[in-house]
Amino acid sequence: TASRSAQYMEGLNAPQREAVETLNGPVLMLAGAGTGKTKALMARVAHLITTGAARSDEILAVTFTNKAAKEMQQRLLVTPFELKEPIRWMGTFHSISAKILRRHAELVGLKSNFTILDTDDQLRLMKQLIQALNMDEKRWPARQLANLIDAWKNRAWRPDQVPGAEASAFNNRGTELYAAYQDRLRTLNACDFGDLILHVVTIFQQNPDVLAQYQRWLRYIMVDEYQDTNVAQYLLLRLLAQSHSNICCVGDDDQSIYGWRGAEVGNILRFERDFPGAKVIRLEQNYRSTPHILAAASGVIAANQSRLGKTLWTEATEGEKVRLIGHWDSEDEARWVGEQVEKLERGTSAYYSYRRNPRSQTVDQENDRLAKNYAARAESRSLPVGRAGDPETDFKSRKLISDPDSPQFGPEISPDEMAILVRASHQMRAFEDRFLSIGLPYRVIGGPRFYERMEIRDAMAYFRLAISPTDDLAFERIINTPKRGIGDKAQQTIQRVAREADLPLLMGAALVLRDGMLGGRAAGNLREFIENMARWHDMVRAPAAPPEDAALVVEDFDAPAPGLSHVRLAEMILDESGYTAMWQAEKTPEAEGRLENLKELIKALEGFGSLQDFLEHVALIMDNETEESQAKVTIMTLHAAKGLEFPVVFLTGWEEGLFPSQRSMDESGLKGLEEERRLAYVGITRAEELCFVSFAANRRVYGQWQSQLPSRFIDEMPRDHVELLSAPGLGGLGGAAQSRHARAEDDDSLEHRAAKADVYNAPGWRRMQARARVAPPTPMAVRSATAEVHFAPGERVFHQKFGTGSVVAVDGDKVAVAFDRAGEKHIVARFLMPADG
Ligand code: ATP
Ligand code: MG
Repeated sequence: TASRSAQYMEGLNAPQREAVETLNGPVLMLAGAGTGKTKALMARVAHLITTGAARSDEILAVTFTNKAAKEMQQRLLVTPFELKEPIRWMGTFHSISAKILRRHAELVGLKSNFTILDTDDQLRLMKQLIQALNMDEKRWPARQLANLIDAWKNRAWRPDQVPGAEASAFNNRGTELYAAYQDRLRTLNACDFGDLILHVVTIFQQNPDVLAQYQRWLRYIMVDEYQDTNVAQYLLLRLLAQSHSNICCVGDDDQSIYGWRGAEVGNILRFERDFPGAKVIRLEQNYRSTPHILAAASGVIAANQSRLGKTLWTEATEGEKVRLIGHWDSEDEARWVGEQVEKLERGTSAYYSYRRNPRSQTVDQENDRLAKNYAARAESRSLPVGRAGDPETDFKSRKLISDPDSPQFGPEISPDEMAILVRASHQMRAFEDRFLSIGLPYRVIGGPRFYERMEIRDAMAYFRLAISPTDDLAFERIINTPKRGIGDKAQQTIQRVAREADLPLLMGAALVLRDGMLGGRAAGNLREFIENMARWHDMVRAPAAPPEDAALVVEDFDAPAPGLSHVRLAEMILDESGYTAMWQAEKTPEAEGRLENLKELIKALEGFGSLQDFLEHVALIMDNETEESQAKVTIMTLHAAKGLEFPVVFLTGWEEGLFPSQRSMDESGLKGLEEERRLAYVGITRAEELCFVSFAANRRVYGQWQSQLPSRFIDEMPRDHVELLSAPGLGGLGGAAQSRHARAEDDDSLEHRAAKADVYNAPGWRRMQARARVAPPTPMAVRSATAEVHFAPGERVFHQKFGTGSVVAVDGDKVAVAFDRAGEKHIVARFLMPADG
């Protein structure tokens, strides 16, 4: 047939072909990661058009992100698909729904030029409604209401459809507020994100003629990442498809990671019921990852109880084991990742060790083998193929270096081909800072870069104003954040007074206050704000607190530094201004994330001598945008990485409490935990050739240093497919602790994990790390090392780790101390502080 000779069919395996060629009737392609679901879906689009079965505007293709839609559009226009025009109805559920809604807005009481609210607007509206009901905003925060209404919309419940069992939500006022919110939106000619889909469902349900029109137009429906659709999206699909049943959904139950946002894996199971006679196609050959990577991923996901279960195999031979490495803390982790990226840019020799490969005796042979491997894979993916030994060879921007004398061999890997995946966005800061300082270009996907985040900018505005009372931009940003009742009108008054007196806004505000131009609560709040600023300003300028000893920080960094350092001052500003409390009051996952980011900010401050130094640093890096065309490492969350692939993937922060998240561990039942495990599976399966998993032994959690246990997901990766790397500078620590790790084989996993944690807490390693950290000495360390410290027998002293005690004897810089609890110890004098009493 014509289709067999079509380019886009070449190389497709039998079940893929079947999915492509089964154009009519319901098709469900259920298959694991990297099995070519998305690829088959694209071929199907091409097939529909090429064979004349459908015109391009008769195809509805739903993808999960706008980015995925854009990429698919671009790829469909070139070889092997070679479509003549983009697919009109290709996009996310939201973008497609918005398009439909614009045409029929009047059917749900909107005008076609309706606005789509952002979260801030949405919250402001809800806040007003809550206030109107005289409810306590602290107990009933707007964000909680927003989440509730979102969840209802995801389930396709309009205000009158919320079931009775949910009626007690939000102090029994939930549905009332939901109805009021929808009315308000209508008056404003606006809708929120959830409405985009729900309104279209409503239009279709209430206007059969409109629905029939779309059913005639959109004759073929295709959905990628089907496992993550929620009920409203599912209803939308079912409505559109029910007349012709030409619907092809592809998904993987093991990659369902949006349960927390209302996605229902059950939709997959429901598919066969709702579309009787659906052809279910299973793909089992994985084309993305090497065998070790695949085995590690399969091992992890096998621990989930609720799954449909499937097998994956690959033809690829060779390949590297998943590399596992533990670090001292998150900064070390970031430093190490930066080093690996730079190493890989120069060639993969560090990772492809030909000496260990019995079939390759020389660099040349190994290079040949690699080249063949790559060529085979390049061919199967219709990518340009390179030749071994050809310095110009370029396959996916990799060059093969074949000079046997060269210390480098193996393909170079461009930063574009590497991704760092994190569980929580606050983890990104350490990587961003590190990469900025070594000049490694990076991009952050799925969210602003750390210093561009709202809460970070707010916090920095507080610091800026405390340092410089003339910073009017900072003043404007925070004068009413958190809410102090100083609204637009009051702010205009302040602006005017300041302008007339030719003073900065903060001074203008003081004048407004003095002249009694502001009344009631606002006046009191403004007074407090100005007084606080003045006080903080004095503290910023006060002589520095006793310097924190660098070595002290290393040895015992869970104790606070003496005196009020700029770090403590910053914390104090955020607390006393009510800014931290504002987010704490929200009690939502999103607010938790913001609080985590604020903690991260405080942590970043520790690396600087003063608030001024820090702000200077940020101002400079913000200015230092890299060029668009430059190759960049990608930093993103695991959630954002779904559907993507990279030759090299760094999976970071695999620690209990972070990944799996504390929230999922605290939950009763396995639901949350299994979703986290699916996320781990998504993460590992993003990697094509090299997959690194790392964890830190220490991480700051809610402002406190905590020692962390390696993630249970690490245990779940079958040992044969994992190689434990030793940390840089770890030297011979390998010994006892490491063999304990090796012996822990199939032990009870908790004990096993504890043994592993031991490796990274071993004193030898701590010392190594400590040394690495204090050299070269920071100015602070130098200062404190040269400071003179005198202690006399009988004097009471304090040590960060051992607590208080009395000096027994002094010998040079060594002091014998009888600690109240820890007994007698010999301590270097500079680790001691005088204690009162
Ligand atoms: P995920 O579940 O992660 O979304 P997927 O099933 O959608 O994965 P694809 O992204 O479509 O998988 O394919 C994974 C990789 O395998 C891609 O690089 C793709 O080009 C390649 N691939 C897919 N099918 C084939 C095939 N038949 N021959 C060669 N390469 C293939
Ligand atoms: Mg895919």
